[in-house]
Amino acid sequence: MDFAFTDEQEELIRTLRVFARKELAPRSAHWDKTSEVPWDMWRRMGELGLMGLRAPAAYGGQDGDLLTAGIVIEQVCRGDFSAGYPLQLNWLAEEIIGKNGSDDVKQRWLARAATGEAIVALALTEPGVGSDAANLVCRADKDGGDYVLTGEKSGITLGMVAQAAVVFAKTDAGAKARGVTAFLVPLDLPGVSRSPLRDMGSHAAVRAVLAFDHVRIPASHRLGKEGTGFYQVMQGFDYNRVLIALGCLGTAQASLDETMAYVKERKAFGKRLATFEGVSFPIAEAATHIDAARLLCYRALWLADHQQPYTKESAMVKWWGPRLSVETIHQCLLLHGHYGYTDELPFEQRMRDVIGLEIGDGTAEVMKVIVARELMGRESLPY
Ligand SMILES: Cc1cc2nc3c(=O)[nH]c(=O)nc-3n(C[C@H](O)[C@H](O)[C@H](O)COP(=O)(O)OP(=O)(O)OC[C@H]3O[C@@H](n4cnc5c(N)ncnc54)[C@H](O)[C@@H]3O)c2cc1C
Repeated sequence: MDFAFTDEQEELIRTLRVFARKELAPRSAHWDKTSEVPWDMWRRMGELGLMGLRAPAAYGGQDGDLLTAGIVIEQVCRGDFSAGYPLQLNWLAEEIIGKNGSDDVKQRWLARAATGEAIVALALTEPGVGSDAANLVCRADKDGGDYVLTGEKSGITLGMVAQAAVVFAKTDAGAKARGVTAFLVPLDLPGVSRSPLRDMGSHAAVRAVLAFDHVRIPASHRLGKEGTGFYQVMQGFDYNRVLIALGCLGTAQASLDETMAYVKERKAFGKRLATFEGVSFPIAEAATHIDAARLLCYRALWLADHQQPYTKESAMVKWWGPRLSVETIHQCLLLHGHYGYTDELPFEQRMRDVIGLEIGDGTAEVMKVIVARELMGRESLPY
């Protein structure tokens, strides 16, 4: 067993920590209050090589491994939780397009995603279908050399600003998962419309409902063979769930670090807050849980990078990481007394931000169904 990061990884952590503290954290509240879309920051993350981490080197990417992706997300989310979204979305798209896209689609989209000039959203959820993703209603009907896309996608992160989306639609209405096909859909095509959702947090991530009214897509924009879309996204979800957990833990750790500094300074009853067990014990407990969850995350990514199964670990951290993050930030907010409840401090924003990932990319209940299935077999499934 080797629990140490390499010298190169340690250097990356140091560099990103400075980036998060100096360039992300000071603007995080502004993005939250104004919902301003931080294109300049996304391009900056492109310049730093972060946006193209999962794109093939031949298309301007880094061909980076998943452990590195985990390090990047954890450190970026120390500065601003929502800055993790464009990274995760573009990485998923880079991977799906890189493995399954035609030359035309790769040429047009991979380099732009890698520089942060383009955001490629991921559109799976529908108004009537979320957890039960194999039962999509959105359909793509073959018509000559094209497909005609009809239906609605809902809850799509960065859906208001993305230039394209990987859209999952049924090409065989009678089949469940095996009837789902993925398409790269430029969102300026005739028949596409978008409307925003008003979320409680991550305002700069502007989620949207995307409507497709007989949108004509060239067959060259189909990603992989018909019927393989569900498997493409589920493979990506396994590692993305770990990245989500690490992002949540990064935000929680930043909150805990700030809280430790605060309680060592602030006095009550003539003593430093840190000397009261009612203050220091919740901090000790949160630090213990975060450390354990982080180790499980990195183990999952290590397994993934070594082509070993990690679905169970991925589902474990996806329900635990966001929950732990919400609880930790809540505790940090309380330890700052009434100031913690104001928007002068970052805790209320961070809580609103991380709660979204208790739902997004698979709810805690669905994750526990997966863990139980991995532990006890399909006999434990309720369906
Ligand atoms: C912040 C955020 C970002 C998102 N980004 C995207 C995105 O970019 N692209 C995209 O396609 N989607 C996105 N989503 C949508 C997200 O993936 C879905 O919300 C999620 O899959 C759950 O689906 P649902 O909301 O329809 O809930 P439902 O599936 O209707 O579930 C409702 C409730 O029932 C529970 N439930 C459902 N089935 C079971 C079961 N078998 N056992 C026990 N309980 C169950 C759920 O846990 C939940 O509590 C995002 C959501 C959020 C909150």
